[in-house]
Amino acid sequence: MSELAPARADVLIIGGGLSGTLLAVQLLRQPAARRIVIIEPRPELGRGEAYSATELGHTLNGNAARMSVDPDNADDLTEWLQAFIAQGGWPESVEQGVPVAELFPPRGIFGLYAQQRLAEARQVGARHGSSVEHVREQAVDLQPLDAGLLVRLADGQQWHATQAVLATGMFAAARTAQITPGGLNAAAVDPWDVAAMRKLDPQARVLIIGSGLTMVDAVVSLHKAGHCGPVSVISRHGLWPHVRRQPPAWPDFLGQDLSLRTPRQVMAALRAQCRLAMAQGIDWQAPLDTVRVHVARLWSQASERHKRQFVRHVRPWWESHHHRSPPPSAALLEKLIGAGRLSIRAATLKQVEGTCIGVRAKGQDELEVIRGDALINSTGIEYDWRRVDKPLPQQLLARGLIQPGPLALGILATEQGAVIDAEGVAASNLFAMGPPLRGMWWESTAVTDVALQAKALAGVLAGEG
Ligand SMILES: Cc1cc2nc3c(=O)[nH]c(=O)nc-3n(C[C@H](O)[C@H](O)[C@H](O)COP(=O)(O)OP(=O)(O)OC[C@H]3O[C@@H](n4cnc5c(N)ncnc54)[C@H](O)[C@@H]3O)c2cc1C
Repeated sequence: MSELAPARADVLIIGGGLSGTLLAVQLLRQPAARRIVIIEPRPELGRGEAYSATELGHTLNGNAARMSVDPDNADDLTEWLQAFIAQGGWPESVEQGVPVAELFPPRGIFGLYAQQRLAEARQVGARHGSSVEHVREQAVDLQPLDAGLLVRLADGQQWHATQAVLATGMFAAARTAQITPGGLNAAAVDPWDVAAMRKLDPQARVLIIGSGLTMVDAVVSLHKAGHCGPVSVISRHGLWPHVRRQPPAWPDFLGQDLSLRTPRQVMAALRAQCRLAMAQGIDWQAPLDTVRVHVARLWSQASERHKRQFVRHVRPWWESHHHRSPPPSAALLEKLIGAGRLSIRAATLKQVEGTCIGVRAKGQDELEVIRGDALINSTGIEYDWRRVDKPLPQQLLARGLIQPGPLALGILATEQGAVIDAEGVAASNLFAMGPPLRGMWWESTAVTDVALQAKALAGVLAGEG
């Protein structure tokens, strides 16, 4: 344990994935001299889980035109990508056969883009005395002081910060209901562990639990690893992501009628709009895509009952229709389903023993045992911080510095991102952004969400909020 006096930071960002990095970019652009420190155990900033991907087939789920990290320039990624490709980067992009703005970039390459924007912002910041340091450690505790906050790291380092931001991202789901603790993860292959996939017998019977975008990644990795055996996917609703197309613009029907608020009202209006679109030969994705900008407003204004209604009845549908697959991945899934090599079924996981699972199919009473040679857990994310088995969330809860957000999704915060403690008091110097605010905004994870939040929060930290 270090006996040294705490080092000092003006802004200490805990987590150096996309959120923490974009916040640093925005802070560096401000005309102020600040020592910004990012605590992040990963070797590189700007990547997190999503953009550490090494598999070229693990692409963004939106095209370049939709994934700018600069809220003031929607073409920022397209422009960066154009230059990157012109310099010989990503030669495989020609395979997609579309203009740069319509390319679905590999997430690893997107990570380079975020890093380059950070490097440029560092130069801007240096001109007025701001800097960003990356401390490769895990933050394990945080406590308020009379002035500022004290943050302790796993190696015993201590940091005194004037302001701190929780940009800790998403925590992998560590357990699934009805499964013995550790059972699923102990037996399962990580869905993004490409090396582990390569070690599998090409004929292995693979079982995948969960059918969202993580499953899509896993199927892509298996395919690239040369797997040619059967793949069975089990998920509660048996829904998987639709393919993302490029629908034309559609009238903002929710913006035109602010009385539409409850999940029932919104869904009825949306269905009617989709029918209208299809009757005109227009893609149903066009009306659906207009809903996105209203999600934060609708969610934050909704009563707890309506939030629960949404999660229970609309969420599976929303996940598969809104969080759509990049076209190359969707085409692979379609091909494998057509060839009878991939099946996706609605069933609930009840037991795991090694790579053998017990499931209950929708509407059935009896347990069905499915034997596989490998198991992949793609059940996703644990948003309830009380169930996250990591020191920082546990310490923050134990100290009463945070409380669960609506429906226990992430943590409670003000509209400006100030964390609200167990007594209901908003902190003056502790903030959160990105996935920890899932319960506040519902969609608080995607590139565009965190890019917007980074800009707004940088303003709040500078006293403009
Ligand atoms: C596999 C995957 C694919 C995705 N694809 C897309 C996509 O195509 N399009 C899209 O819009 N969004 C996508 N997302 C959503 C994505 O999460 C966001 O775009 C973005 O990565 C969120 O960034 P973040 O920094 O908040 O979280 P993360 O990327 O999760 O980063 C959080 C970081 O915090 C660090 N951390 C956590 N706890 C501590 C601690 N105590 N001390 C220090 N550091 C800590 C972690 O090491 C991690 O690096 C994807 C997410 C995943 C997981």
